[in-house]
Amino acid sequence: MAAPVRVRFAPSPTGHLHVGGARTALFNWLFARHHRGAFILRIEDTDRSRSTDEHIVAIVDALTWLGLDWDEGPPAPGYRQTERLAIYSEHAQRLLAAGRAYYCDCSPELLDREREAAQRRNETFRYSGRCRERGLTAGALRLRIPTEGATVVNDLIHGPVTFEHRQLDDWILVRTDRTPTYNFCVVVDDVTMRITHVIRGDDHLSNTPKQILCYEALDYAVPEFAHVSLILGKDKSRLSKRHGATSVQAFRDAGFPADALVNYLARLGWSHGDQEVFSRAELVELFDIKDVATSAAVFDAIKLEWLSQHYLKTMDGARLAGLAAPFVRAAGLTPPADQARFVGMLDTLRERAKTLVELVEQGRFYFERPSVYEPKAAQKLLTVEGARRLHALIERLEAEREFTVAAIERVVRGLTDELGLKLVDLAQLARLAVTGRTASPPIFDVLALSGRDESLARLCRAREIAERAA
Ligand code: GLU
Repeated sequence: MAAPVRVRFAPSPTGHLHVGGARTALFNWLFARHHRGAFILRIEDTDRSRSTDEHIVAIVDALTWLGLDWDEGPPAPGYRQTERLAIYSEHAQRLLAAGRAYYCDCSPELLDREREAAQRRNETFRYSGRCRERGLTAGALRLRIPTEGATVVNDLIHGPVTFEHRQLDDWILVRTDRTPTYNFCVVVDDVTMRITHVIRGDDHLSNTPKQILCYEALDYAVPEFAHVSLILGKDKSRLSKRHGATSVQAFRDAGFPADALVNYLARLGWSHGDQEVFSRAELVELFDIKDVATSAAVFDAIKLEWLSQHYLKTMDGARLAGLAAPFVRAAGLTPPADQARFVGMLDTLRERAKTLVELVEQGRFYFERPSVYEPKAAQKLLTVEGARRLHALIERLEAEREFTVAAIERVVRGLTDELGLKLVDLAQLARLAVTGRTASPPIFDVLALSGRDESLARLCRAREIAERAA
């Protein structure tokens, strides 16, 4: 039987988690969950000048928010590269002892001169191999790669990709200052963490032949590789800040539900027929790395919004309330203590909003009295006649024992007939009084959800203003 699947997501904590990284994490997570394997989080922080603890926290938060839980990784010790230096050093010694690596003392100046000469010849710089047979005992440690032949990366997405060894060189494993290089750490980590499948961005494809040669030198089994294509902006250039929000945190703060972003990212480069909406369980069941596209995917914010709206519209009410409450608070407002009422309010808003931020903005009137009324409508409706109508409405509603949608509707319709008006005349007046706006969810719902006391207080206040305007 094949070894159980073990995959990893290995971010460098040099910034926030971006959608490209998030998608790589998601594909790894889906692959692990589909195969009932393990998903490992490893922090590649050997670049100490650019790695920060704040970024680690931000990445961990973003993955947690997305619901991509890991089976091994921080906060457990041993999953940060800076904690693993002894392991790299031990592997370096093994390669040296086996003659698969050698020391090189070429000075940076000499290497720079050779690099410049190569550039002038329009060639990629390759180390000359000058120190290969010198038997030095100090310096930078280089991997001795075969001079002939080729290494084939049998990529699960791209198929076989061949790299001629003459295009590669004896790359540095450990620098003169004894710090291990990025490619070396990745190999040692993947080996010692028993990774079976390396799924990562295809910007790493050119590193893979180098890494495979290192596995072979260590006499380790080479894992499977899958390189996921880039994400591009609408103009087909690599997705960057220029294209708007790109970090997971920015999407979270803009009020996209995590499920919508996960669904969106899964479809970015992966497909299953023409299905667009997938539950997590479906994604786990259907995800196959072989169905990931070889071509780059274009980030489409409109489609993400469409999915977000779909999730807001269809998710369970209690869940929506849980997601919306922090956004209500972030807007400086307080959600009602009564959960059923809060869910009722959200039910009237969820059809129209693309994000939780929009939803809260559209429903702001539920949580605070209008401080202003739309001026044009106020001019038209808050008049002597308006005051008279409001007065009648207030009296009727006060007399009503129940304050349900049905009772309110009955009262308003009855009064409309009595005054010889159209429903819209009273409805717009009540809407303006209670919400300050001319557009809102159905007014009978708004009144019922706002409650008797609050609704009447707002109607009275509008009446006062109408009387004063007269
Ligand atoms: N640390 C690398 C990055 O953030 C990932 C390397 C890998 O997955 O092998 O791009």
